Amino acid sequence: MRYAEVAVLVRARAVDRLFDYLVPEGMDISEGDAVEVPFGAQRVEGYVLALKDRVADDSVSYRSIAKKLSGERPPLTRDLIGLLDFMRKRYFCTWAAAVSTVLPPVIRSPGKRYYQLVCDAVSVSEMDAADALWVRKLKDAFSKKTRLAEATLLEKGFSRALLMRFVRQGCLMLELGGSSVTRRTEMWVSAVPDARTERVRSDRKREFLRFLRDRRAPLRYADLLEQGLATAEMIRSLKAQGLIHVTAKPLEESGHDMEEPLSLTEEQRAAVESIVALMDARKHETMLLQGVTGSGKTEVYLQTIERALQKGLQALVMVPEIALTTQIVARFRRRFGSRVAVLHSRMTERERRHQFASIYEGVADVVVGARSAVFAPLDRLGLLIIDEEHESTYKQDRDPRYVAREIAAWRAQHANAPLILGSATPSLEVMYRVESGRYTKQLLKQRATGRPLPEVHIVDMRQEMKMNQQGLLSRALRDALKDSFNHQEQAVLLLNRRGFSSFLLCRECGESLTCPHCDVTLTVHRDPDPALLCHFCNYRAPLVAVCPACGGGRLRTFGAGTQRLEQEVLSFFPNVRVLRMDVDTTAGVGAHEQILSDFAKGEADVLLGTQMIAKGHDFSRVSLVGVVAADAALHVPDFRSAERTFQLLVQVAGRAGRHGREGRVVIQTFAPDHYAIQAAAAQDYEQFYRTELPLRRRLDYPPFTEIAQFIVTHEEEHKAREGARQLYRLLEASLNGCERVSLLPAVPAVVLRIRGAYRYQVVVKYHSFRAVSTKLRKAFDQAVAACGSDVSLHVDINSWMTL
Ligand code: ADP
Ligand code: ZN
Repeated sequence: MRYAEVAVLVRARAVDRLFDYLVPEGMDISEGDAVEVPFGAQRVEGYVLALKDRVADDSVSYRSIAKKLSGERPPLTRDLIGLLDFMRKRYFCTWAAAVSTVLPPVIRSPGKRYYQLVCDAVSVSEMDAADALWVRKLKDAFSKKTRLAEATLLEKGFSRALLMRFVRQGCLMLELGGSSVTRRTEMWVSAVPDARTERVRSDRKREFLRFLRDRRAPLRYADLLEQGLATAEMIRSLKAQGLIHVTAKPLEESGHDMEEPLSLTEEQRAAVESIVALMDARKHETMLLQGVTGSGKTEVYLQTIERALQKGLQALVMVPEIALTTQIVARFRRRFGSRVAVLHSRMTERERRHQFASIYEGVADVVVGARSAVFAPLDRLGLLIIDEEHESTYKQDRDPRYVAREIAAWRAQHANAPLILGSATPSLEVMYRVESGRYTKQLLKQRATGRPLPEVHIVDMRQEMKMNQQGLLSRALRDALKDSFNHQEQAVLLLNRRGFSSFLLCRECGESLTCPHCDVTLTVHRDPDPALLCHFCNYRAPLVAVCPACGGGRLRTFGAGTQRLEQEVLSFFPNVRVLRMDVDTTAGVGAHEQILSDFAKGEADVLLGTQMIAKGHDFSRVSLVGVVAADAALHVPDFRSAERTFQLLVQVAGRAGRHGREGRVVIQTFAPDHYAIQAAAAQDYEQFYRTELPLRRRLDYPPFTEIAQFIVTHEEEHKAREGARQLYRLLEASLNGCERVSLLPAVPAVVLRIRGAYRYQVVVKYHSFRAVSTKLRKAFDQAVAACGSDVSLHVDINSWMTL
């Protein structure tokens, strides 16, 4: 008898355990397989997590697996099975929730596999000599047809592994169920940088090599033949002598210049070498790559990935948000072509299937993606990279509230692979671990382009107010803008609040206009239409002129947003071209990319917007960065507000002067003496860290503790409050006797009501998750059972620790 432990996809917490089923005689089941099983009166989908020969209680009669779902569902890979258990324990989620989070999308039964021959002799010359025979056979096979079914090729003696190697080399194209998994490629030719022409005996070849070398940029193979500049034979033999590169590139990218690895700076080289040493040793280690803005971290990633690929390993690269990092993704594509799969949550179902198919088929071995890409089904992981590790986007904001950094750490550990955390402003958690010796660090102190870091001026807005300057732009910032426009350069302006102004207040009764569903004020919008908008639930109301509470007519707006900034810039500089980037201008598909590429092309003089404009963009003509309200985020009730402010300011300042003239940054603030602003102005991470760390220690905040925040919500306030109090009592009982744990009483959450639901919270601070996790879990489960199904409970581990 064989039994299978199955995680069924039923979300109810009451049935959150694994169920044993009998494996019917003759059914071929492996760990990770998707199955259909009887469950109560229904049939449900589930996953086999383990197989075993005996069960604890064999007096029970077990039901049998109904069928195996092959074809429709890819199996869970072994390391992802292990990850489910980790997620359950760490984020208190159910098996079903963990499985659905980890699981790749349904890939329809792939149907027939076809191959097309896309390249001719040149790509063939890329092959090892041992493959020469197969190459000839391949050309023979395709002599009459351009498209052949896999079965036909297998009959001729090709193995699938061999065919896939041709696919990766860009010579064959794989088609699954009618759509291609690889993109069409074409061949490009370039001279090896210091190719020694003397070594070439034939005059014609030597001349051709000189011609290529003078061109510097790669040329299309097809053009070279067509224009009679070279023959296939010439290219083949120069290639064999190692004097030229021949590279396959996806067709849609071949308009771009192909990108060769840059020659590294000393600091970059040291970083690459230490990472490669870890890969050579197959050793897991977490390494912080701390590099100032513009230090060329991306180049370090690219060159280490190249080394991982040479070893036959795969690489996973996480970026904070795909839409804002298209420049980086494009660089990866220019380096690795169709070996790159891109994964993020905004892609269409079709596109997502395509990307997953290219991973499963082994065509893509570099995955670049946002948070959810951390679950990419890679089973030969050799390197994991998290770019801008300090970003909050790595945390999922729905259940299960996983932290992608923790998942990446888990996977890196189990794959014996290094985890590289890149940042100019590392999170305190990471730096603290570097200091305590748990992580290592590589520093990039210089900008790779040799440009200095920009010069920063702080403008004290209290003085501006005294001078009766009421607008958003100080005189200093206006002067700097004027100077930048006079030099035909570009400027970036940050105001981290969207809309026109943050709220409307009645000057007669003192009421402000609030959302009927949430406990927040409504934001005034002017563009595209005048309206009042809730930034939590998107509730929309007409912009009123009369106070709904008292009927008075003296409503006034307070606090400014990006729309008002845009208006003010245009009122001072009527002829400049302004691009605004915030949630409102980027709702459409591809809108982010459009704005960023328009700005990069010089189609605007100013890019203004919320924190979106601060991300890793590399604009060459930006010499001025202005921060309109640097202290805006300092007053948010969150222990990380200083850290977030510092990080945002350093990030945005780093956009200035990356290539051309020296950069200049103007920071406007009402708190010029605040340490976060001072440290950001000095672009001095160390200074910030040394000030912030003792504050955290004194208040017992991360990185010294971890915080678990439990949220209880219900549409009726008293039920939410009661639920939270009950949870508190259960936690108190369960944690009784635990040392160095503090349990804070049930209180309303920072925003009491969102979308009509009241929220109460209970917070627990502790020093070791391991020491308290089962106790927390017990109380949580008891509270879920006690509260009834209409009250919802969430847990949010508001920090992260390593395992
Ligand atoms: P970071 O992510 O560290 O802010 P980037 O990776 O965006 O920096 O690099 C900044 C700029 O420096 C880019 O334009 C990049 O092309 C350039 N760069 C990186 N490495 C080198 C190098 N070794 N030589 C010349 N330029 C480089
Ligand atoms: Zn609302």
